[in-house]
Amino acid sequence: MPDTFQLEIVTPDKMVVRDAADEMQLPGKKGYLGILPGHAPLITELSVGEIIYSANGYTHHLAVAWGFAEVLPDKVTVLAETCERAEDIDIRRAREAKQRAEERLKSGNPEVDFNRAASALQRAQTRLEVAERKG
Ligand code: ATP
Repeated sequence: MPDTFQLEIVTPDKMVVRDAADEMQLPGKKGYLGILPGHAPLITELSVGEIIYSANGYTHHLAVAWGFAEVLPDKVTVLAETCERAEDIDIRRAREAKQRAEERLKSGNPEVDFNRAASALQRAQTRLEVAERKG
């Protein structure tokens, strides 16, 4: 059994990660999924949360929002709507997005798309949490 798997994380904008990982966690629709080399094949939808993977003795943290992951015994492919490495997260931007979303949610304005604001809040909160984990 190989002790690593090929990990690719892609968004519509860019290739975020291409690495040989030995372990990872990702936020599936029904909760976090832990993956080791040789995992049984599956496809899962992603929610909003943190991806953690380790490679060469280093642990990496990323914020991810929506998409799919395909898990194969020797390869994991993540196709995400958005994904940022912890060190690339603009904290000020995330704080502003969080504040905007919170204001929309409590405004009581019937024009506000509640689901959209709630999703924006979730993304911003995740980005702030993940940004704190940079090495
Ligand atoms: P904002 O209102 O600040 O645009 P958002 O949650 O609506 O936030 P998204 O639609 O999720 O933004 O993402 C749009 C693009 O901007 C994606 O490429 C995403 O990776 C990037 N992005 C969003 N917020 C940040 C951030 N705080 N730091 C770095 N990149 C970000």
